[in-house]
Amino acid sequence: MKFASGKETVRVQSALTRHPGGCFAYRFDGPGLRGECSVVFATDNEPPIDPASPLIKLTRGADLLICDGQYTDEEHEKRRGWGHGTPSLCLQEAVIAKAKRILVTHFDPGHADPQLKTMEESLIAEAQGFGLDAAFARQNEQLFL
Ligand SMILES: [Zn+2]
Repeated sequence: MKFASGKETVRVQSALTRHPGGCFAYRFDGPGLRGECSVVFATDNEPPIDPASPLIKLTRGADLLICDGQYTDEEHEKRRGWGHGTPSLCLQEAVIAKAKRILVTHFDPGHADPQLKTMEESLIAEAQGFGLDAAFARQNEQLFL
């Protein structure tokens, strides 16, 4: 992540994720292209849907939530507590936290591109119902906020 140099400052906060062995999510608040903006990076995380969780509080109102959508819903049923989410859970997390946009990453190594494309299409369709911008991350993708 690249930050503007000079007198601008970036505020960094963290919260524990839901992942065996522990892991942190980070929130960065700072100057963007159109004023203040915030990004939350929360992978190695099974997204919580409890509004009182520290991670939801960390994510509140974020302009962008980068989240862990490793599993399909069916795979997640068999891997609850493993510390990884699904695109649907990422969406729920974003809706509860009122994040404005989600970018799903931390893909399962067993998922080939066609499956990821299908998973992304259903996420986008689901997210439209909440008026939320959603996508899967791409290799070497750059975002300008
Ligand atoms: Zn992990």
